Amino acid sequence: LGEALEGWQVVQLTGPGGAQDKVQGHKYDHGHALVFAGGVGRGGAGRLAARSALRIGAGAVTLAPTPGALQENAAALDAVMLRAVAGVEAAEALLEDSRLNALCLGPGCGVARAAEILPVLARSGRALVLDADALTALAEEPARLGDAGPRSVLTPHPGEFARLFPDLGEALKAGRSKLEVTREAAARIGAVVLLKGPDTVIAAPDGRAAINDAGGQGAVPWLATAGAGDVLAGFVTGLLARGWPPFEAAAHATWLHTACARSFGPGLIAEDLAEELPKVLRRLA
Ligand code: AMP
Ligand code: MG
Repeated sequence: LGEALEGWQVVQLTGPGGAQDKVQGHKYDHGHALVFAGGVGRGGAGRLAARSALRIGAGAVTLAPTPGALQENAAALDAVMLRAVAGVEAAEALLEDSRLNALCLGPGCGVARAAEILPVLARSGRALVLDADALTALAEEPARLGDAGPRSVLTPHPGEFARLFPDLGEALKAGRSKLEVTREAAARIGAVVLLKGPDTVIAAPDGRAAINDAGGQGAVPWLATAGAGDVLAGFVTGLLARGWPPFEAAAHATWLHTACARSFGPGLIAEDLAEELPKVLRRLA
């Protein structure tokens, strides 16, 4: 995975427990991910994340839109389950299902909804991906940064990163290394930080870090397309659901995301990424 760094170890793509190899496994042996979506007309990003979590191997994925947006999501998704979530109480009730083991908050969710639901998810102690609107909610109230626990992965693009960590954003602009600032951010909040871009850096609070330099096989600028980040959030969530630890899940999801873009080639739209994944995984098998 990109440049090998201090403390980085190559991990098996089957992940801990080797769930994919368990021939008689039940779908819930492969994890159950929950992705929060938003209201009417803004669910596309959540749908992309949910489909991507399923493609990367979560045994089951539930998408949780607002009650009013249930219909539009039902029309767009088949394999993904749907549960309407109006607010905090409904989110708490949903989390009583002990099979839910990985959560994703942010893509297409709406900032107010993300801010409301985040403490509930953080309290649940589940593996948690925070992206997009969840990152904006965190940046609006930095005290909430404490909500990101050791099982969380934050997936900011540079703009979101600069809003979350203004001093580190400035340092980055002033030429400090992306590796160093990402490591510092991860250590500060005690969670994995995945700072996106053509040279995505993934850092863990214990100092491990990886740079996804696209495997030295040349840039994939066509990956910078609407919705690509939502797919990445879904890939990370899916690997977390499969039982991968946060740093490994984040690093491998990033590598696979780039590999899908390279395999598909120019002309890619976000929907194509997860559809390309089976081809990429077959080549790795
Ligand atoms: P987002 O901004 O949330 O939609 O995420 C954008 C996605 O595109 C992330 O996975 C980035 O790492 C990726 N990305 C952004 N710019 C580039 C680039 N120039 N080359 C390759 N990937 C990129
Ligand atoms: Mg995004």
